[in-house]
Amino acid sequence: MSKDVSAKVNAFMDKVIEKNPGEDEFHQAVREVAESLMPFLEENPKYQEAKILERIAEPERVLMFRVPWMDDKGEIQINRGYRIEMNSAIGPYKGGLRFHPTVNLGILKFLAFEQVFKNALTTLPMGGGKGGADFDPKGKSDNEVMRFCQSFMAELQRHIGPDTDVPAGDIGVGGREIGFLFGQYRRLRNEFTGVLTGKGLTWGGSLIRTEATGYGCVYFVEEMLNSKGDSIKGKICTVSGSGNVAQYTVEKVNQLGGKCVTLSDSSGYIYDPAGIDAEKLAFVMELKNVRRGRIEEYADKYGVKYVNGKCPWEIKCDVAFPSATQNEISEEDAKTLVKNGCKAVGEGANMPTTFEGTQVFLNSKILFGPGKAANAGGVATSGLEMCQNSMRMSWTREEVDAKLHGIIKAIHSQCMQYGREGNWVNYVKGANIAGFIKVADAMLDQGLV
Ligand code: NDP
Repeated sequence: MSKDVSAKVNAFMDKVIEKNPGEDEFHQAVREVAESLMPFLEENPKYQEAKILERIAEPERVLMFRVPWMDDKGEIQINRGYRIEMNSAIGPYKGGLRFHPTVNLGILKFLAFEQVFKNALTTLPMGGGKGGADFDPKGKSDNEVMRFCQSFMAELQRHIGPDTDVPAGDIGVGGREIGFLFGQYRRLRNEFTGVLTGKGLTWGGSLIRTEATGYGCVYFVEEMLNSKGDSIKGKICTVSGSGNVAQYTVEKVNQLGGKCVTLSDSSGYIYDPAGIDAEKLAFVMELKNVRRGRIEEYADKYGVKYVNGKCPWEIKCDVAFPSATQNEISEEDAKTLVKNGCKAVGEGANMPTTFEGTQVFLNSKILFGPGKAANAGGVATSGLEMCQNSMRMSWTREEVDAKLHGIIKAIHSQCMQYGREGNWVNYVKGANIAGFIKVADAMLDQGLV
């Protein structure tokens, strides 16, 4: 990047930081986009004149609200709920809800900002949003989770709707939580609509939605490898996390003939050199989705190594799938992965690589699929769930999977189109520019709104 362009990025970021103090993750996400967009904007002054980048970095609306609820002991608890309605230029706000004690405004704004570009890449008409609460579902009874969800939705329901804003799940919000949230919405509004995605199959959910983020991420990595005449088959993969995205990443890697050797949670990681096969994965699903236990139990059951307090990036691999949370791959981790021969990274999680770690991957010119492209399969299938709800019909598993696969291929092509640099593809740049153009053109068409 030239000195002049770099100065423009810094000037823009100074304003973003001044306006949004203390929101480190938001600054990080905006900087990454600004760095890859600025040279493109210089060549396309119409976007600069209309201040599209400045407008995109400002949410259309931010909602913050009190969520009081009663625990099993009869004690009153108070959490803070949020919904960031970031951009609706190309469709209703769409994006997940995260329930985790670390949730704050900056984290949700970074997620909502990323979502705008990701949703544009899916080719479906969805704007970007994100929400959640600093509520920790860990250690809570089902009844406590239900009372929390009901209180959360008592407020959220007045701001969302099938043509306005359609939330889904994210960390800490899975099928159980979506059920409680949907039930409360339906009761308060007296209407049965597709206001949430990730619903149960008997009440408006779509086949493959549960699997979609993990499957989509593996499809994306397969596309990147295919472009180099390679494939997942026979590859050793490290996966972090052990929730929704991680579980279905392992399932799809197995189906394509690769081998996953790690999983983790916020306490540590397991290393199983023999590979996490279908039977072991079924154990993980029961452990995490039903018993809600710790991944360490896997090591006890299968007699493999458990490493406390660390992420799995020190394990040698061909492909890494960070699928837990933001900033879980540091600069050092990225260097270790590259040094150990990692050929491809598929970000199942949102912004799992630090800014410095991303530079390491880009400079080493490995295949690096950023979250807004690699994990877009989840929201894409949510978009397909919205379609089915509007039509009041449902597609088969094969139909949804084929559409998901087609969308991932389309995202990969867009990244290639805008990210090609010689015989290497900068997928970060490609995803940012392709996502931006769609939203920016819609904003230009719609005037100053
Ligand atoms: P889950 O809640 O199902 O699983 C999250 C996993 O990540 C758990 O293993 C959890 O461990 C671990 N984790 C969470 N926070 C931390 C932390 N601070 N440090 C270390 N590990 C942590 O969430 P999902 O699988 O749905 O989401 C994972 C990632 O994928 C997130 O970044 C999310 O934004 C992203 N994503 C999810 C989509 C979806 O459709 N679900 C769509 C697109 C992206 P523990 O149990 O110990 O907390």
